[in-house]
Amino acid sequence: MALLVQKYGGTSVGTPERIQAVADRVARARRRGDDVVVVVSAMGHTTDELIELAEAVTGGDTCTADHPREMDMLLSAGERISMALLAMAIRERGVEARSLTGSQAAIITDESHTAARIVEVRADRVRETVDGGSVAIVAGFQGVSTAREITTLGRGGSDTTAVALACALQADRCEIYTDVDGVFTCDPRRVPTARIIPQISHAEMVEMAQSGAQVMHARAVDLGARYGMDIRVLSSFVDGPESDDPNRGTLITEHPMAMEDLVLTGIASSRGYAKLILRGLPPGMRTPTDMLVALADAGVSVDMVTEAPDADGRVLLQLTVREDDLDRAKQVAAEVEAALGGGGAMEERGGLSRIALVGSGMSGRPGVYAQAYRTLMDAGVEVEAVSTSSISITLLVHADGEDAALRALHAGFSLDRPAEVPAVAAAG
Ligand code: ADP
Ligand code: ASP
Ligand code: MG
Repeated sequence: MALLVQKYGGTSVGTPERIQAVADRVARARRRGDDVVVVVSAMGHTTDELIELAEAVTGGDTCTADHPREMDMLLSAGERISMALLAMAIRERGVEARSLTGSQAAIITDESHTAARIVEVRADRVRETVDGGSVAIVAGFQGVSTAREITTLGRGGSDTTAVALACALQADRCEIYTDVDGVFTCDPRRVPTARIIPQISHAEMVEMAQSGAQVMHARAVDLGARYGMDIRVLSSFVDGPESDDPNRGTLITEHPMAMEDLVLTGIASSRGYAKLILRGLPPGMRTPTDMLVALADAGVSVDMVTEAPDADGRVLLQLTVREDDLDRAKQVAAEVEAALGGGGAMEERGGLSRIALVGSGMSGRPGVYAQAYRTLMDAGVEVEAVSTSSISITLLVHADGEDAALRALHAGFSLDRPAEVPAVAAAG
């Protein structure tokens, strides 16, 4: 008898029929003798619709900033609907089930409304429910703060609820059911030749998720890494005997089996970046230090930093930031420039996309940059900025070229090669 934590995303519980399909799967697991904790998202686009309602009554799009507590009260309602409906559907199948809000399940968070972080999971109530012979259905994406207020974990946060519960309960399996077959080499809706990744490390998946692969919430994967919890991502739309294949989907694990000798594991991208070029600054460590400290104090997160010599012994600083932060960044940069005595010539470029090439296979391997640049040059896409970590290369390109860049890089790094063809056979 195993303890399973299964999370079902919005599309997977999007209609009464999908809820019934989930109930069938859960009931099957119970009949096999497994204990099951289910984490649910809100149905379909419920969360987006609730946000639209808030915008309609407040007459603007700043409700998250203006009314964070009430937004959490509102958005947490979405998951309450799906949890109760699923509990009823499971009970209709003769299997005991009980729904619990994040607060009842003792998902304790900090006090940051709309972007709370889990500080503790007191899993006793969930454990009691399961030990009492019921399926525990927990509302994802929500918790209760140390100040006893209802909080939510940020968009896509139900994955994090699931992994946090799996870790707290020391579950045997943590399964994230979604609307695609697993984690792909690139978003399959944007790059049709993307293929499924059978196994991926937590570190690579964190990088993919932070870079825009929304199939997993980055913080969920990070938690899995810290507690050594393997996570399987798989489709809730596969039924019948095939659905019980223990190897389907993608396994996120510490030491994945490398199926092929590929440099990259996957590519992810996200929009909404901008770069700021500051010229004629005084040389020396004080310039970047003062700039970065002031930006940090103003709450601006800086993604990439490049320093280069400029004319007359001065230096040039290029910073990339979220486009939403650009105005604030410009204001802070102008103040720091004035204080440092220099600069004044500021250039900006918005509408950029960030493309991350992710793969532990690239570490120490020569020619990865060369391949990326050659591929993008052939595709007619210009690189605006670049940075690197031990398992990724990040390129900023103009958003108009994002799709072309994704497709070209995906093919250029052989990610669309079918998984079942071993590299040697393909070569011969
Ligand atoms: P859920 O509602 O189940 O949480 P999400 O919409 O949050 O589902 O995530 C699933 C979606 O993530 C897919 O429909 C897919 O379009 C998108 N996606 C982006 N990048 C990837 C990727 N690399 N692999 C799989 N899906 C991806
Ligand atoms: N319902 C929330 C959202 O749409 C949380 C989730 O689905 O994970 O972001
Ligand atoms: Mg999701």
